[in-house]
Amino acid sequence: MLNNQGRPTTGGVSEEALHPTFTGNRALQIEEPLIFEIGRPANTGVDLDEPAQFESKLSNLERNAPIGLPGLSEPETVRHFVRLSAKNYSIDAGIFPLGSCTMKHNARLNEKMARLPGFADIHPLQPLFSVQGAIDVIQQLVVWLRELTGMPAIAITPKAGAHGELCGMMAIKAALAARGEQRTTVLVPESAHGTNPATAALLGYQIKSIVARDDGTVSVEEVRKHLSSDVAAIMLTNPNTCGLFERDVLAIADAIHDVGAYFYADGANFNAMVGKVRPGDLGVDAMHINLHKTFSTPHGGGGPVAGPFALSERLAPFVPVPYVTADANLAQLIEHSDGASLGRMSAFHGQMGMYVRALAYMLSHGNDGMKQASEDAVLSANYIRVSLSDVMSLPFDRTCMHEALFDDRWLEGTGITTLDFAKAMIDEGFHPMSIYFPLVVHGAMLIEPTESESKISLDQFIGALRELAAAAKRGDKDRFVGAPYHAPRQRLDETRAARSPVLRWAGHSPAIS
Ligand SMILES: *Cc1c(COP(=O)(O)O)cnc(C)c1O
Repeated sequence: MLNNQGRPTTGGVSEEALHPTFTGNRALQIEEPLIFEIGRPANTGVDLDEPAQFESKLSNLERNAPIGLPGLSEPETVRHFVRLSAKNYSIDAGIFPLGSCTMKHNARLNEKMARLPGFADIHPLQPLFSVQGAIDVIQQLVVWLRELTGMPAIAITPKAGAHGELCGMMAIKAALAARGEQRTTVLVPESAHGTNPATAALLGYQIKSIVARDDGTVSVEEVRKHLSSDVAAIMLTNPNTCGLFERDVLAIADAIHDVGAYFYADGANFNAMVGKVRPGDLGVDAMHINLHKTFSTPHGGGGPVAGPFALSERLAPFVPVPYVTADANLAQLIEHSDGASLGRMSAFHGQMGMYVRALAYMLSHGNDGMKQASEDAVLSANYIRVSLSDVMSLPFDRTCMHEALFDDRWLEGTGITTLDFAKAMIDEGFHPMSIYFPLVVHGAMLIEPTESESKISLDQFIGALRELAAAAKRGDKDRFVGAPYHAPRQRLDETRAARSPVLRWAGHSPAIS
């Protein structure tokens, strides 16, 4: 791997890397060593008194070698992490147009609420009477999610969209088992996110892929062709990953239910319809909700995210523990169930900090505000679609929902690929859109601006893409094929990075390069 100056990165660690003296912008350009490479074991950021004489009760469990902490002063530590953070591209740094990921603004009000000591400093094993406020927040979040989904039961504990998806499908499997049925097959449209077939496969189902019709959506006729008493469920994303609303959704739900199967909805794109459509009214039996996509909590950031899921009346008995109930006096965390519950899907009650942030978003926007956010997200995506439609090609030339999908036909004959185009965007200071996803569209470029962007910011983004598109068509190939030229990391060998990743620091050995 080479750095900006064409020098090999510090495999063997140089003196400069070990004792960096960074100033100004250079701090952002240079390779940042690992904290273990900067640290010297003898150093410490805190002065601790020598412990008094004590008799160890740990017998042979006592540690007998140093713990291997890096050893830095407080300013050295802070500077290391600030330098690293400045290398990140984030929604706080600029538009983050990844399709299907809904990278929206994380409001500072949410952060302020999540840091309140009554939420931030509590412990999951505290007695319930001492955390009634926190339990009440979870309960309020559940009430909002019920209202917005039109579905009666909400399970809060899953740690990601994919985890919620797994739990939702487990509820379906459990419901079938309770009926004494062992169905074998799950239907998944070919445009689906990879987590859908992965989830079904993990639960032992065979996957039957459903092809879309020419307009990019799934037809009820196509679904009917695959229906039988062996089908456990369909996993349908709506709006789908082409950014299109599945128009046959009601008929598909009926057809699925007619053969005794369940309708799993992938709710990752819920931001396109919050306050406009309730999935429960579309016949959905189970749906996960990515709080980090739809309800503005950070993607990651200090721990896992939260992917609660909603269940229909028929699946509600299978909701995992713990869940929250409340009467006038006391919010209760139900930790055990003697009924049909799936049981426990995580150690505790989930991601408290994310619940607080999501509820802060809901309360600060209100019903009307969230509906407006969905409408603005759709408007922004269509603004981008129309503004670029004369220079880039659209696989489905019609109004989209929250994301605009382009293909690579417009690059034909230029020698430039979707990947090259995306990398050149980095040199213009933009994070690329999702590329090569969904798989059904050749050289896909999927742009989801979200409602967070002002018209000025959308215009800057569109302007940059138009200028790049013109350069591509002009044959300015060099600008693309080696890009990015101005990023701390240049083009990686992505195949090698995927096939033989080096993920572990192995000490000061040349192997780490
Ligand atoms: C993001 C996403 C998922 C998975 O959610 P994670 O929170 O990333 O696990 C599933 N389906 C679709 C369509 C998505 O966009």
